[in-house]
Amino acid sequence: MAKYKFFAEVNKNFDKAAAYTKHPKGLLEHIKSCNTVYRVAFPLRRDNGSVETIHGWRAEHSHHKLPTKGGIRYAMSVNEDEVMALAALMTYKCAVVDVPFGGAKGGIKIDKSKYSQAELERITRRFTFELVKKNFIGPGVDVPAPDYGTGEQEMSWIMDTYKAMTHDLNAEGCVTGKPVAQGGIRGRREATGLGVYYGTRECCSNAEDMKAVGLTTGIEGKRVIVQGLGNVGYHAAKFFMEGGAVITGIAEFEGGIFNPKGLDVEKVFQHRKETGSILHFPGAQNVTPSTELLTYECDILIPAALENQLNETNAHLIKAKIIAEAANGPTTSEAHNIIKSRGALIIPDSFINAGGVTVSYFEWLKNLSHVRFGRMEKRHEERSYLKLAQAIEEMSSKSFSVDRIRELSLGADERELVYSGLEDTMIVAYNEINEIRKRNDVDLRTAAFISSINKIAVLYEQMGIFP
Ligand code: GLU
Repeated sequence: MAKYKFFAEVNKNFDKAAAYTKHPKGLLEHIKSCNTVYRVAFPLRRDNGSVETIHGWRAEHSHHKLPTKGGIRYAMSVNEDEVMALAALMTYKCAVVDVPFGGAKGGIKIDKSKYSQAELERITRRFTFELVKKNFIGPGVDVPAPDYGTGEQEMSWIMDTYKAMTHDLNAEGCVTGKPVAQGGIRGRREATGLGVYYGTRECCSNAEDMKAVGLTTGIEGKRVIVQGLGNVGYHAAKFFMEGGAVITGIAEFEGGIFNPKGLDVEKVFQHRKETGSILHFPGAQNVTPSTELLTYECDILIPAALENQLNETNAHLIKAKIIAEAANGPTTSEAHNIIKSRGALIIPDSFINAGGVTVSYFEWLKNLSHVRFGRMEKRHEERSYLKLAQAIEEMSSKSFSVDRIRELSLGADERELVYSGLEDTMIVAYNEINEIRKRNDVDLRTAAFISSINKIAVLYEQMGIFP
């Protein structure tokens, strides 16, 4: 896939959208440019005593708001072009969902499976050390998060290293996606997948838009194919299943599985854990290579793996009516045009996978306020609801059952508040971009870009930097 110039692809989409705005050319050029890129090489002593050079990057695409924000990925595909493109996508993504951060992204070029846990710890801590040294990390500067190949464990090492090197009272806010015991937030792990679900559900609730793609409203009964059973794909598939969708196909590197009657996501996950492969799942048909599955008949296709998965080689074969881009940049611009010309609806990455960074924002707020969401008000709320329920009982001379009283008077805990904030964010943002789409007669991707360009441009214009 090296031939794809990912950052140029993102900029192509930017330019297309910029034509629908009236901002000065110089300002648009500035928004588009990647502000800073830090490239680092450092030595790693392997467990067997040999020494190897590790290459890493951190790109901060836009400082229009601080801190900058975006994940760190561990993959062999990582290079400067990729981190710049992904950092740019973070800028636009944050603007689309009103998360007050600039965009950033980092990466280390390693194949994670070739390193021991101790080696991964040394790599992560040393990379963090390099970021601290160059002021590329900090709660008010740049805040990494998990991405492809990283998770809570890496975030925990990053936070611990940062904490050990600084005297920052807000040190916990230097990274998000941490384990809950270390300042993480309930709901962050499933946030991206849940956001994909909330966003798609909102899209599917619009009768006019569904009619245009030949579907009925609602998630119930929709046939869904998911590519990737990592954190995002797994949770997205689970929430779709719980919402009544039928998961007919799941694709991973080693192959795909298909069952028109539906796959139980949790059981597939356990099967892969036990056997080391998704293949040969009871009742399902094997599909190899797994990319074949992307072209199977379905209502919703969710690419939740890496970039450029839907490209000119397979775009004309894709039959899905809705494509929900859970991954970053899964569709090349050529593929986008081919799929669109068939009348399918593409829900773009810069909106649909923003659930992760949205809940990262909540985590960061929690870290800066040093208090768990709901801690102050939960009991007070419960007492107020209870009093209301009792007043209703008095007025009606009827009484609620104990279970009903418990249900009526329940105050929200952290996870419920996070879900509520995420749901609202995805619903509001979807309607915002869908309205822009209709007003300008463009697709949702262009609409999302128009939305973020306008939000960022207004900020610069108000600062008087660009008249
Ligand atoms: N890596 C995720 C993304 O691409 C999350 C970023 C974050 O939480 O900062 O959106």
